Amino acid sequence: MTRMTRARIPTLGPRVPTLDTRKVKPPPKLADPHYQTAEHKNWAEQVKRRAGWRCEYVEDGVRCERSRELGDQMYADHIEEVRDAPSKALDLSNGHCLCASHHTRKSHQARAARMSR
Ligand SMILES: [Zn+2]
Repeated sequence: MTRMTRARIPTLGPRVPTLDTRKVKPPPKLADPHYQTAEHKNWAEQVKRRAGWRCEYVEDGVRCERSRELGDQMYADHIEEVRDAPSKALDLSNGHCLCASHHTRKSHQARAARMSR
């Protein structure tokens, strides 16, 4: 007498297929808390002061002429972004002063580069 009778218990699968939402949803856009710190504000001030409050963007050997003196808003930008190189977040050599349009352009390029990785 070796025959085993196995009760057939129907297994209930999940009724709703589970999705890996990590692949579907983009990450929430949270401002990096680093930008709120006094250390960052001090770093930004030093970067802009060092640049003479002028945009440091150089294109075809010509430096951008925008400056605070001419009424442009200046931004201290991380050459290697904080999320890419957190250890360089407060490194003055990792900062440059940019006008709004060059800051926007550079941020977009960095994001595109990050997406392509
Ligand atoms: Zn510029």
